[in-house]
Amino acid sequence: MLQEETIARLVSAGYLKSEKIIEAMRTIRREDFLPLQMRPYAWEDHPLPIGHSQTISAPHMYAIMLETARIMPGQRVLEIGTGSGYGAALLSFLVGNKGKIYSLEVVHALAETARKNIAKEGLEAVIIEADGRQGYPQGAPYDRILVTAASENIPPCLVEQLKQGGKMLIPVGRYFQDLLLIEKSASGVETKSILPVVFVPLVGHSER
Ligand code: SAH
Repeated sequence: MLQEETIARLVSAGYLKSEKIIEAMRTIRREDFLPLQMRPYAWEDHPLPIGHSQTISAPHMYAIMLETARIMPGQRVLEIGTGSGYGAALLSFLVGNKGKIYSLEVVHALAETARKNIAKEGLEAVIIEADGRQGYPQGAPYDRILVTAASENIPPCLVEQLKQGGKMLIPVGRYFQDLLLIEKSASGVETKSILPVVFVPLVGHSER
C-alpha cells in the first residue's frame, strides 16, 4: 500500500484527525526506519519486524496514541521503547524545536539505529539506553509519557515523573493489554481505558 492511501484510510476510519499529525505522517518516511527487506511493506497497516525480536507498531497505533496524547509544540515528552525511532521522530516533529523528546531503549543496537534514523530525517530526540521501567528522572517532569511496550502495572515512578496536567499512555496487561490514559491533576490521578491492544512486553536487561 502507498503512504497516501494508508493515511487516507486512517483519516476515513477516524483514527487520524489533527492536521499536524497528518502532516507528521506525510513528512516522516516510515520506510527509512525499517530494515531493507521490510521497506516494501512500510505502509501496510501492520506492525513489522525490526530485528532483535522487536517490532515497529502499525501506523494506526501511532495515530491512536498521538491523537489521544494531544501532543503540543514546546512539550517535554518521554517515550519508553524507542525501537526503530519512528515514534520518537513523530513526537519530535510534533513538539518542534522548542520541545524536547527523550526516548528509552534497552537494546543497544536498536538505540544506535534509531539515533541514525532520526538524524536522517533532520529531527532531534535524545535516545538513552536504559530500563524504561524506572523512567528518566533527569528529564522530568514530563508533559507526556508514551509507553510503547506492555507493562504489568502502572509504574508509580512514571506517574511521579509526570507534570501536573500531564498525560501518560501505557498498555497494561500480560498477553493482551488495555491502553490506559492516565491524567494527573491537582485533584489526583485519573485512569481511563482507551482500547484493547497487543504490544511486546517491557523487559529488563537480564530477561533478554
Ligand atoms: N516505538 C517503537 C516501537 C516500540 S517496540 C517504534 O516506533 O519503532 C517496543 C520497544 O521497547 C522495543 O524496541 C524493545 O526493545 C523496547 N523495550 C522493551 N523493554 C524495555 C525497557 N524495559 N525499557 C526500554 N525499552 C524497552
